[in-house]
Amino acid sequence: MHGLIFNIISHNESRTVGAHLIASYLREHNWDIEVADWAHTWTLEELQAFARSRINKNTKWIGFSHLFSRWSITLEEFCVWLKITWPDLVLVSGGNVSPRFDTNTIDYYISGYGEYAILELLKYLFSNGTPVKFTLAGRKLKKIIPANDFYRAAPKHQIRAVYEERDFIFQDEWLATQTSRGCVFSCDFCNVTMVGVKSDFTRDAKDFDIEMRENYDRFGVKNYIVADETFNDRLDKVIKYADVVEQLPFVPYYAGYIRPDLLVNRPGDREQLLRMNFLGHFYGVESFNRPSAKVVGKGLDSEKLKQGLIDARQYFESTNRKLYHGKISLIAGLPYETFESLENTLNWLLEHWTGHNWTMETLVIERGEFTQPSKMSLDFRKYGYEEMSPDDIAKYNLTDPALRKIVNPDYMGFGPVSWNNDAGVMLWKNDITDALETTVWVESRAKEIRRTNHFSPAPHTLSRPRFVGAVEDRIAYCKEWPPIENRDPPQNTKNNFNKMLDTYKTQKINYRG
Ligand code: SF4
Repeated sequence: MHGLIFNIISHNESRTVGAHLIASYLREHNWDIEVADWAHTWTLEELQAFARSRINKNTKWIGFSHLFSRWSITLEEFCVWLKITWPDLVLVSGGNVSPRFDTNTIDYYISGYGEYAILELLKYLFSNGTPVKFTLAGRKLKKIIPANDFYRAAPKHQIRAVYEERDFIFQDEWLATQTSRGCVFSCDFCNVTMVGVKSDFTRDAKDFDIEMRENYDRFGVKNYIVADETFNDRLDKVIKYADVVEQLPFVPYYAGYIRPDLLVNRPGDREQLLRMNFLGHFYGVESFNRPSAKVVGKGLDSEKLKQGLIDARQYFESTNRKLYHGKISLIAGLPYETFESLENTLNWLLEHWTGHNWTMETLVIERGEFTQPSKMSLDFRKYGYEEMSPDDIAKYNLTDPALRKIVNPDYMGFGPVSWNNDAGVMLWKNDITDALETTVWVESRAKEIRRTNHFSPAPHTLSRPRFVGAVEDRIAYCKEWPPIENRDPPQNTKNNFNKMLDTYKTQKINYRG
């Protein structure tokens, strides 16, 4: 039996691994599964041409794999067309957060690590398997299968994506990989689907080793985004993969999520990360205002954290492996955060973090009826939040481009349910501000500061994916930081990437295997 998975990623993102893990797993169970990457960049006509070239009498289902929870009018139109053209096809959506987007076409939603859940669903639908367990959520009573509750694919010690010829992997692209599942922490605002993991959920070192060697031998790939929720959650874990990396016949490069408080408090982290060339760091700082960070579970003293980040940066920059890039992630709108404290943060970034990067986004509070919401979503009043009333909202000009992100249902499904039917995120307010005022400030003030100062990447070198692009730009353009030995500087400028995408889509549509 045959199925297709569309991987919903965009222009400036590298291909994510979830769709390929699902495909690899199902192939082991006699399914012929093909993945179409960068589905957010395909036109309706391209999607239709691809579907016509692939769908046959054996095609039973079509999957849509989400990085977070994104959808678009094009994808909705495509699904409507699929349902009209092949009424028996089952449409399944999957992702690691709950489905917050609005649609009338998806039959089942899987949230969490989905290998076992999708297999059980397919057995039920097409092989007389037992009925699957699901919950009904949202106004449209979406059938959501919370995989981590009912079909938990963790711990899973073999999590290797096996790529095919028809994936058209490019030598200089960044693939994603996983070394563990879930997160050992449990931050109050966090809505990833498996937090508070207590035992060893890491992947076998051998399995990781095979993947690295195979992708290098077959495609020449050396660069990876590690898609763990927190890569340095345990020091023994970092050592485990550093041991593998040191034995590889090539010099790889890794980027991913690093808990900055651990990096600051545990000097062994930096040595091990350096040993495996894990030098692209995305730091979930969330706030430099201590009461704000503390209330959501990131309570390291802010001054110590700031100094620790400066020290870590100097440590990595002073070694002979000079490809370090640190990106700080911040949330605007946490409890006790004021615009004054946010301005203080901007001033610190200007003084101490130029040449590197940071991001700031408005706090997300999900609606509780969806699966696995954060602690803050479940009990937002405890944290001092209320839902904005229609009168509160009416004060804003919702056509303001700065508000596009928060009120545009295509983007994240923000907004009151009545606006886009089935949104999973609420517009919040607290004693200090609200989600709309905060978003206007973030989009106009904070991002303007970032745009007009020397934070990497410089606009003209913006490449893909955004985070990794910064690292690549550093490698390619910063003459004073030459590439490490045996490593060619990647040339992934935005234009090159767009060209690569065009090539990919053409190859994909014309491929006849
Ligand atoms: S915010 Fe990061 S560290 Fe905290 S629970 Fe979520 S994934 Fe883990």
